[in-house]
Amino acid sequence: MSPIAADLRRLLRHSQVVDAPAELRTYAYDASFRTQLAPHAPDVAVIARSEEDVCALMRYACERSIPVTPRGAATGQTAGCVALKGGIVLALNAMNRIIEIDVPNMQAICEPGVVHAQLNEQLAPHKLIFPPDPGSTRMATVGGMASTNAHGMRAVKYGPTGAWVLGLHVVLPDGELIETGSAGSRAKQSSAGLELTKLFVGAEGTLGVITRQRLKLMPIPPARAIVLALFDVLENAGKAVQAVFAAGISPSAIEILDQRCIRAVNLYRPAMQLSEVEALLLFEVDGNPAGTRWDAEQIVERVRPLARSVEWSSEPARIAALWEARSVVGAAVGVLRPGSSRAYCGEDICVPVAVIPETLRAIQDISAKHRIPIATYGHIGGGSLHPGHLIDGRDPDEVRRVLLVADEVHGLALRVGGTTTGEHGVGAVRAQYMPGEHGPALAVMRRIKHALDPTGIMNPATIFPDDVPPLSAERPTTAPVGAPAHTGLDPG
Ligand SMILES: Cc1cc2nc3c(=O)[nH]c(=O)nc-3n(C[C@H](O)[C@H](O)[C@H](O)COP(=O)(O)OP(=O)(O)OC[C@H]3O[C@@H](n4cnc5c(N)ncnc54)[C@H](O)[C@@H]3O)c2cc1C
Repeated sequence: MSPIAADLRRLLRHSQVVDAPAELRTYAYDASFRTQLAPHAPDVAVIARSEEDVCALMRYACERSIPVTPRGAATGQTAGCVALKGGIVLALNAMNRIIEIDVPNMQAICEPGVVHAQLNEQLAPHKLIFPPDPGSTRMATVGGMASTNAHGMRAVKYGPTGAWVLGLHVVLPDGELIETGSAGSRAKQSSAGLELTKLFVGAEGTLGVITRQRLKLMPIPPARAIVLALFDVLENAGKAVQAVFAAGISPSAIEILDQRCIRAVNLYRPAMQLSEVEALLLFEVDGNPAGTRWDAEQIVERVRPLARSVEWSSEPARIAALWEARSVVGAAVGVLRPGSSRAYCGEDICVPVAVIPETLRAIQDISAKHRIPIATYGHIGGGSLHPGHLIDGRDPDEVRRVLLVADEVHGLALRVGGTTTGEHGVGAVRAQYMPGEHGPALAVMRRIKHALDPTGIMNPATIFPDDVPPLSAERPTTAPVGAPAHTGLDPG
């Protein structure tokens, strides 16, 4: 038994401390390509059951300068919840109580390990919803979502997770517990002091451990409608999005599928029979029944001059079928190239909406240059694009080439005025791009990190490039690489 595990077993219950090598292997991965190439097990994993456990663990780790990496459901695609520098992985998914649903104040108080879809299932009888909606809804924890500031399809109207977090309990690296967003408050807004809640949202576990969340809720919109538009010319899809916004309409989702994605959906779900045009757009509108009808009709009118065809529906079965087509894309692209799987790297760029068509064409150029097929889809309303690279992971040259593709895709995003990550976060895999993305602002982030975590124990291989060990220094895997086995869902 390692000395750390022995100490921790005196501090916590025996069953909360994991140090058997076979069990630790399950903590060596998240959904990133990096950890498929080079899984990295921690020295010890601790399963937290309470805030007191987290405080005790952080005090212990701080006194001994042992790295601690928080972990939710490990659906992240950045190696952010993997202990690349060793030490302790702190699993928070067993802290999964919904402590209170405060209906009159439209708030939920939760532990961080609550799974997103389960929260919304519990809210539904109250006709309330927590609107952020990542594709990983049935797996991701609300703690992971807050820590990555997760987005999703409806972020174009409702914003990211951060817009719905009113307050947090955070255990700081030295074990002190604080409450952000005004202690004990149920106010829905506040201007009292620095916005510490926002500081911890999106910090990817580098500043402290989130142990409780006060989340803002909204009423479930009573009606929805969907518009399907098919375009022979990719550029017209971009123009259509601009035309809809110019008409004063705020869709709750606008999704794009490129030609390869449409073909993949048809192969995967032959009943869909979508025309294999250059691009497909799905618009969703929500609100009251008369308003959604008006919005949908307006979208049809604005888009018709640009599209080969456009139709709308408020039929629940049609809405469900079209969202099903969208939600299987991530899994479906694999059928485009039998024997291949997706490499989740360079999978999450976000670019200005006005340059989406040229960005999609540039991605295809990168694909052709490196002979790696890429099928791209995304939340075009916010500019978020998910290129899906298809590789045969048994071929070392394809692995080498797909890493070049990821590098060029990240470079492209910055060149056109975008960001290397629209929603999945930085973790280890995008740290190298942070100096280029932020310039001197990265040094300010470092100073904030140092102020809260002077010994640098909190998730130490994330965000800052100097802290991330090079991939070549990691242990190579013996298993063939491929898409994460646990996901049939759609990143993005
Ligand atoms: C199929 C699939 C679809 C996806 N779709 C989307 C999408 O639509 N939108 C989107 O934004 N992302 C998406 N993702 C990425 C991922 O699901 C999100 O980043 C999610 O928020 C991660 O949650 P998690 O519980 O799995 O966190 P983890 O992967 O376990 O951790 C993510 C990061 O948060 C930190 N962390 C976790 N919990 C805590 C805590 N309590 N305190 C402090 N730090 C913590 C970790 O250290 C790590 O840095 C998708 C992933 C998959 C596999």
